[in-house]
Parts: sequence; C-alpha cells; structure tokens
Amino acid sequence: MQQERNIFPIVNDGFSVKEAIDEAKRCLHCKVPQCRKGCPIGNNIPEFVRQLSKGNMGGAMSIINETSNLPAICGRVCPHEKQCQGNCVLGKKGQPIQIGKLESFIADFDTQMNLIREDLPQKSRGRVAVIGSGPAGLTVAGDLARQGFGVTIYEGQEELGGVLMYGIPEYRLPKAIVRAEVKKIEALGVTFKPHCMVGRNNITIDSIFADGYDAIFIGTGTALPQEVATPGHNLGGIGQSIYLLHQFSAYNEGALSRRHVPVNEGDRVGIIGCGNVAMDAARTAVRLGAKVKVMYRRTQAEMPAIESEYNAAVAEGVEFLWKTEVTEFLDNGNGYLRAARLKSSDGESIEEFDRMFLAIGSRPANRIVSTTDGIATDEKGYVITSDYPMGMTTRRGVFAGGDVVHRPQTVVLAMKAAKEVAQGIAQYVDAVKLLQHIENKA
Ligand SMILES: Cc1cc2nc3c(=O)[nH]c(=O)nc-3n(C[C@H](O)[C@H](O)[C@H](O)COP(=O)(O)OP(=O)(O)OC[C@H]3O[C@@H](n4cnc5c(N)ncnc54)[C@H](O)[C@@H]3O)c2cc1C
Repeated sequence: MQQERNIFPIVNDGFSVKEAIDEAKRCLHCKVPQCRKGCPIGNNIPEFVRQLSKGNMGGAMSIINETSNLPAICGRVCPHEKQCQGNCVLGKKGQPIQIGKLESFIADFDTQMNLIREDLPQKSRGRVAVIGSGPAGLTVAGDLARQGFGVTIYEGQEELGGVLMYGIPEYRLPKAIVRAEVKKIEALGVTFKPHCMVGRNNITIDSIFADGYDAIFIGTGTALPQEVATPGHNLGGIGQSIYLLHQFSAYNEGALSRRHVPVNEGDRVGIIGCGNVAMDAARTAVRLGAKVKVMYRRTQAEMPAIESEYNAAVAEGVEFLWKTEVTEFLDNGNGYLRAARLKSSDGESIEEFDRMFLAIGSRPANRIVSTTDGIATDEKGYVITSDYPMGMTTRRGVFAGGDVVHRPQTVVLAMKAAKEVAQGIAQYVDAVKLLQHIENKA
C-alpha cells in the first residue's frame, strides 16, 4: 500500500536551493506587507522570506511553525493567486514573489534535513480527542499538542490526511508530502488511531468521554457527494467524481489494478460541476487518455474552482461548456450511458458520452450526530457551533470545525477555522479544570 508509482509527472516542480534563495531576494520587504494580510492564517511571510534570502532555512521554518502545521501542503494547493501572491506589490507591474513555492520549498527542506527539534511542553494541560485527520483535525491536534495538551486523533480511514490523502491527486499533491507532514504532527506527541470510525462498533462521543478525554473536536468534513435526480441518472457509466479520484489514487499506490479505475483510454468523459473536485476529476480523466468536457450551469466568472486549476485544465485540453445543464441521460439500450441531452443558451443538443461524473458538491455524513445526543445540525447536516467558546457545539465539551461546519471550502480555510476552535478548546478545558480545582478545595 505504501509503494508509490507516480504514474503521472508531478505538475508543480519545486525550487532548487539557489532558485529559492534568488526568488526570496526579490522581496521588497514592504513597510506594510500586503502578502501577510492575504494569508487566512496570517503566516509571517515577510520574515520567513527574509530568513530564506539569507540562507537561514531553520529560521524560516521556525517562523512558519508559529502559524502553520501544513506548509508543504498549503504551498502546493492554496489559491495563492487570490491570497498571499495575489496581494504581493511586485505583482502590480510584473511577477509576484512565488510565495507558495517558497513555503513548500522550506517545508520540504526541513523534512529532508530534519532541521527543527521543537521544545515541547509536558502534556499536562488536559486530554483532547480529535475525530478526523483532514486539515482541520491535523491543525487542532498540532496547535493543542504545542500548547501542552495530550491529543489523540481518531481516523476512519487506513491513513491520515483526509481529502489531502484520498481526494487531491498525486500529480498535484504527492502522498509522500502528506505523509511527511502527518509524521511531523506525530512528532509533536500526537497519538493516531487509524481505522477507527466514530459512530460505528461502539465507538461514540460518549465512549470517548468515558475514556477520560476533557474535550472532543469533530473535523469530519463532507463525505457524502450530492446526487442528481435528472432522468436516466441510474444508468451505468454515471458515477461520482470523488469515486474516480479515490480509485485512481488507490491504483496509483499499487493497491488496485487499472481495471478498477472507471475511465478507459479514448473514453468521452463528461464532468458535471466546476469546483475543485470537477477540475481534479477532469485532469485525472485526461491523464487516463479520455477526451473530457466539463458542463457547468453558471458562467465562468461564477465557477468555484481555483483559477490556476481551471487554467491548467484548459491547457491540458479539457473543454468547458458554460451555462449548460444536463436535462437527461440517454440509454444505449443496455442500461448504460450513451449520451446526454444538454440545454444551454444556444438551445438543446445531444452530446455522446461513455462516462459521466458528478461533482456538484458534498455534505456531512450523520454517523456521529445520529449516535450522540445533543449535537444540533442545520437542515443540511452541518454542525452548529457557537462563537464563545469558539467552535463549541450544542453539546458541552464537543467542538467542531472545518468543512463539517462551514461547508466545503479550502484547505487553508479549514485550518483557519480549526486554529480558532483550538483556542476555544484550550479556554474551555482550562476553565473546567479551574472550576474543578476550586470545588475540590471547598
Ligand atoms: C478532490 C478535491 C480537491 C480539492 N482541492 C483543493 C485545493 O486544491 N486547494 C484547497 O485549498 N482545497 C481543496 N479542496 C478542499 C479541501 O480539501 C477541503 O476543504 C478540506 O480538506 C477540508 O478539511 P476538513 O479537515 O474539514 O475535512 P476532510 O479533509 O474531509 O477530512 C475529514 C476526515 O474525517 C474523517 N472522518 C469522517 N468521519 C469520520 C468518523 N465518523 N470517524 C473518524 N473519522 C472520520 C475522514 O476519513 C477524513 O479523513 C479539495 C477538495 C476535494 C474533495
């Protein structure tokens, strides 16, 4: 399972040491650095770039560690064009500093050289269980471990990382990078329980509390893909994009054979939707030898996909049909997809397809809330949380954050929410322990 085959080349090759230092030297060190304002988690970009420009890799890494647990990942998959890089003043007249690439360079260098040994406090402040190991769960775990909490992560899958491990394809985010970041979080003293699906086999919120945890964080994401009710939706050949990505990832890892990946060389593949999942499914299908069309019911300006992902998909030959809806899936006579009836501003047309993949959103599973009393959700299943203590659900001591609260967003926004909730958890546990101390003395 651990064997990596890298079937397709990695798309964002990193800097060499010289290239990274040269790029860092281009920074103007603005008095009011706009790049930092553009980073949702407030990374101290000017300072890590300054340290890197002097060749002080350890110093640069220590600065990143102050705010981020996943720099090798953010450096590769954040929408930099809208955030740090988009705000760099050099971008007004020329090329902005490639901040994302510098961030991942420093993190990768640290991994290879094993630069940083942090002074970690004793884990004496309390015990916290984290459910889910996506960017939200890993961030809560890392932040709380650094603040002296004993943290255990419960993860339903075999490996940790959530969408980073099972969604975003290898050519964009190598699994070795995710594994290295996860290892760094383990090195902070966090304990992992993989293959441990909370809400099944008698593992519940109540049983975790009974094991002596002071607080629990739910960071379980949005695992259920949305379906369509379009006539013909049950035909063979129609599936979920996330399933394609999952199968492809397992094939890439050598865990499945090619026939389990539901796209064949030469297939005409349709993708419905235009977010990040759609882009990854389209680009994966292209790599598998398919001719791909993405259909989106809105305009290009309204697509939720990261701009750079869309540009890469166009460059790789993916065709986009804007303001286009599929109104019917047509049968080949054997219960299998033959074509789709499309409606657009130009009228109706029929387009032939061999495969169709949906990428129209996802929502939370109810495995935890259905096995626990007192955790309220909205009508779509998103967990309701308070602002004080930050991130606490309607059940005392149970917190939540990331996509399971805020709807599918981005890695860094899940991290931002998780960082705030980690502070809420720390305040809550400290307050409960203080009250217990006072009561015990009385
Ligand atoms: C295909 C795809 C591509 C994307 N590309 C980008 C991108 O390029 N850039 C970007 O910024 N964002 C991207 N995103 C969005 C980003 O990945 C998500 O917003 C982010 O992963 C959400 O983090 P999370 O921790 O809330 O949830 P997740 O990453 O979904 O993690 C949830 C974890 O909880 C586990 N879990 C669920 N239920 C249980 C349970 N009951 N017990 C134990 N464990 C459980 C799951 O197995 C999973 O590991 C992409 C998303 C997808 C699906």
